[in-house]
Amino acid sequence: MGATGSAYDLARQFGLKVVEPRPALVPLTLGGDDVLFRELSGIAAPVEARAGKSAFREAALFTHRGLSGPAILQVSSYWRRGEPVTIDLLPDAPQGWLIDAKRARPRASLRAALGALLPDRLAETLAERLALPGELAALTDRKLADAESRLARWIFHPNGTEGFAKAEVTIGGIATASLSSQTMVAKTVANLYAVGEAVDVTGWLGGYNFQWAWASGHAAGQVI
Ligand SMILES: Cc1cc2nc3c(=O)[nH]c(=O)nc-3n(C[C@H](O)[C@H](O)[C@H](O)COP(=O)(O)OP(=O)(O)OC[C@H]3O[C@@H](n4cnc5c(N)ncnc54)[C@H](O)[C@@H]3O)c2cc1C
Repeated sequence: MGATGSAYDLARQFGLKVVEPRPALVPLTLGGDDVLFRELSGIAAPVEARAGKSAFREAALFTHRGLSGPAILQVSSYWRRGEPVTIDLLPDAPQGWLIDAKRARPRASLRAALGALLPDRLAETLAERLALPGELAALTDRKLADAESRLARWIFHPNGTEGFAKAEVTIGGIATASLSSQTMVAKTVANLYAVGEAVDVTGWLGGYNFQWAWASGHAAGQVI
């Protein structure tokens, strides 16, 4: 879109505080132990993804570099390097579903039980990771309950994001404390206004960033 960091440079030149900009609403990359999930590129599933205290129940998409899809883009705005992202892979499954599956289909494998609820290749990868081979009937309820809680809190350790090249927005920017909330004029510099993406305001997915760009632009436009 032609966006650069020039607004931040200009703001700094006039002594305004700039909160460190970083990419947000951005896919996360996986490496290390999580690398085998990259083989699921193209597979999507409805999940609940969590980073810190924020959770989003939407689709996640596995990509050849890691994780994307609305649930991941949303949590990326709350994720900090070094922190985990926790994913409930079966947010709609009732508690005890795996033990119920054992009662209903004792001869089935864990992979088959997962395959009834999740895309086939994802079920296969998860079953491999859970390492509980054989028939469900041979697995104790305790083991199945443990597997169920792991599936409800699957921990990924992203090693980064796809960066500004793929980010939809920037977290950080010109500090809101430096600006009038009525007109967007800089409190300490006459006739200097900052609006939209340049300001430290970040919205969720769903049009809120456009809304902020237009609304703040309109507010400034009223007084210029
Ligand atoms: C791929 C993608 C998808 C997105 N999807 C959504 C979405 O679905 N919903 C949503 O709400 N938000 C979305 N966003 C975010 C949204 O586009 C931005 O928040 C919004 O466009 C910011 O508006 P802005 O006017 O502040 O900045 P910009 O739209 O970046 O406009 C800045 C303009 O300034 C121009 N410019 C830069 N330097 C100079 C200069 N020196 N002289 C003159 N002109 C200059 C640039 O060319 C550009 O036209 C998306 C962003 C991306 C990248």
